[in-house]
Amino acid sequence: MTSRSTDPTVVRAAWIVPLASGGPADRRGQGGGPVASADLRIEAGKIAAVESARGNLGAGGVDLGQVVLLPGTVNAHTHLELSGLAGKIRYRGNFVTWLGEVTARRPTDAGAVSAAVRKGADASLAAGVTCVGDICYGNRAWRTLRDHPLRAVCFAECLGIGRKRHDALTRLGRDMEGMVEDDGLRIGISPHAPYSVAEQVYRGCLDLARASNWPMTTHLAETPDEGTFIRHGAGNLHRFLTMLGIVDDSVSATGLSAVAYAASVGLLAHPTLLAHVNYLDDEDLAMLAASRASVAYCPRSHRYFQHRGHRFVEMLAAGVNVCVGTDSLASSPTLSILDELRLLRRRHPELPGATLLAMGTINGARALGWDGQIGSLSPGKWADAVAVPLDADGPDDPIENVLRSDLAPMATIVGGHMAFRAGA
Ligand SMILES: [Zn+2]
Repeated sequence: MTSRSTDPTVVRAAWIVPLASGGPADRRGQGGGPVASADLRIEAGKIAAVESARGNLGAGGVDLGQVVLLPGTVNAHTHLELSGLAGKIRYRGNFVTWLGEVTARRPTDAGAVSAAVRKGADASLAAGVTCVGDICYGNRAWRTLRDHPLRAVCFAECLGIGRKRHDALTRLGRDMEGMVEDDGLRIGISPHAPYSVAEQVYRGCLDLARASNWPMTTHLAETPDEGTFIRHGAGNLHRFLTMLGIVDDSVSATGLSAVAYAASVGLLAHPTLLAHVNYLDDEDLAMLAASRASVAYCPRSHRYFQHRGHRFVEMLAAGVNVCVGTDSLASSPTLSILDELRLLRRRHPELPGATLLAMGTINGARALGWDGQIGSLSPGKWADAVAVPLDADGPDDPIENVLRSDLAPMATIVGGHMAFRAGA
């Protein structure tokens, strides 16, 4: 991620919302609140300053006009390889059937995977997403994403339960061969879910993540079927895996909830990013609050699967780091985090706009272990930002203006590079 001669050195906007951590903001944005008529100064791809606009812009300056410049949004949970499945799979009320369909229609050859990942990455930039936590079966997405401006943690997916558990970590190691990190791409691992990953495989993944300092993510407490599988060693998922010849004597009832099972495996003693966590009781919530784990809530995917209400507001109140993901286009209408936040704004008028915006930016960066370098417009961090046009009929408050409008981003900047420009 090197800066280019055509990259702006100053970006001027009607409003800049730095969302830097700390207390309430003053008019200059100290503390992270909105700054009116402001400049984002960029040096070598990183933020040098956010300050009140002064004088004429030099040759390297870009005036975006009537826009709100926000930290680039972070999609903490997605599967870009499934971008070709947009609108193709209807949910008929059975998660196992849906899973079977996705598995059957997932792209297999390298060219098709790459095309789907590129399509999803381009759509992400156009939606104002500057960083994704992307999970890829077989770990092929990174070869496409390393040449794409979108920043990514590429999570190599690991599956192995029952008969498939013995060589799961060997397969993971093989899938990760040749993988290299750079400023725009980081390595992560993703043991898939408790119904597809044996306890010993989870522990092996944890050891790897700790030894290499890689972020780790897993799907957790996504469906009632998963809960039945874990607690009773039975149900739809159990039957499905038995039918596939995967279940053996090692797959048994634990008597635990999904969250308690995650704790027993060691996932909560690590900064694991837990995707979904749709089903949990009060005890589970307390366990999460006392843990180092983050939760990626995927609001529109949650709606698609007709799950009951998500407890993210209680999680936030309990101090859990809750971020936002879209999940894949097989269950979500777009890859836009702004769209997710706007849905949450409509459903939760009581929540402060800055809280919602944090869920879509800095909380996601924290969940991916990248908050030291992205997630807010703070000096020293990468200049990752999205410019959203001000809605002339919207509220005066710039955060509310963005959350209550349906206007698409005008520009997306990653590492100081103008990675997307509407109409360009
Ligand atoms: Zn997922």
